[in-house]
Amino acid sequence: MPLYVEKKPDVLITEDGVRTDGRLPHEIRPIRMTVGILDKADGSAFIEWGGNRILTAVFGPREVHPKHLALPDKALIRTRYNMAPFSTPERKRPGPDRRSVELSKVIREAIKPAIFVENYPGSVIDIFVEVLRSDAGTRVAGVNAASLALANAGIAMRGLVAACAVGRVENFIICDPNHDEDMWGDADMPMAMLMESEKITLLQTDGPMTDEQFKEALEMGRRCIRFLYEMQKEALKRPYLIVERSVFEQGEV
Ligand code: UDP
Repeated sequence: MPLYVEKKPDVLITEDGVRTDGRLPHEIRPIRMTVGILDKADGSAFIEWGGNRILTAVFGPREVHPKHLALPDKALIRTRYNMAPFSTPERKRPGPDRRSVELSKVIREAIKPAIFVENYPGSVIDIFVEVLRSDAGTRVAGVNAASLALANAGIAMRGLVAACAVGRVENFIICDPNHDEDMWGDADMPMAMLMESEKITLLQTDGPMTDEQFKEALEMGRRCIRFLYEMQKEALKRPYLIVERSVFEQGEV
């Protein structure tokens, strides 16, 4: 018998657009970004976003093992997304599973367009995304932190990649879905952009939206991501210090 049974809240969003955690549709959960906290890694970052706690570490460019994986003309980019057994309400079985393999790929594909891979032929850049505590939106939090860790490692990049999820609960388009909204909302849409060109490098959707709703979600996602990007730049200017933002003020997004 499961020790923990999730219960759908009676009201996911009120008629006035108030969400289960008291936020309005355009409000992001509190965020903190810390860069350069692991002295054994070439680059690192820690992100606290709502209830998420995610540590990222970058190693490289370094020699590829096993050697046959090396690419002659560019760097190999490897990512590992991993959830700690204590990161979820129910103990998560340690080790890779289908979801972690998928999210490792999703994060790699979101980040890779930013890296000048041709600058590092024959080498590998390893990116570790360790979820210590999860609260929905771990893939986008992981993308933000991985991007910071790469910059902290001094990897040549076109620009930072910033990410945020948006979603739909009933008739409201919301940004940064929380656990309840991720689980019982009508749609979830994680997005990432390479900020130098604002090119979208990640866009997934898992629920129905009309054309209008999709356009609104896309625009809200862009605006949230620009906000995250401003935080990332601040975090990089002051490594080893925390950049902190609380929930958005109304109208900021
Ligand atoms: N989750 C969980 N156990 C799992 C996988 C996910 O409790 O084995 C929770 C976790 O809080 C996660 C959320 O479900 O953040 C949403 O997971 P999803 O696969 O949608 O990815 P995410 O939103 O974290 O990128």
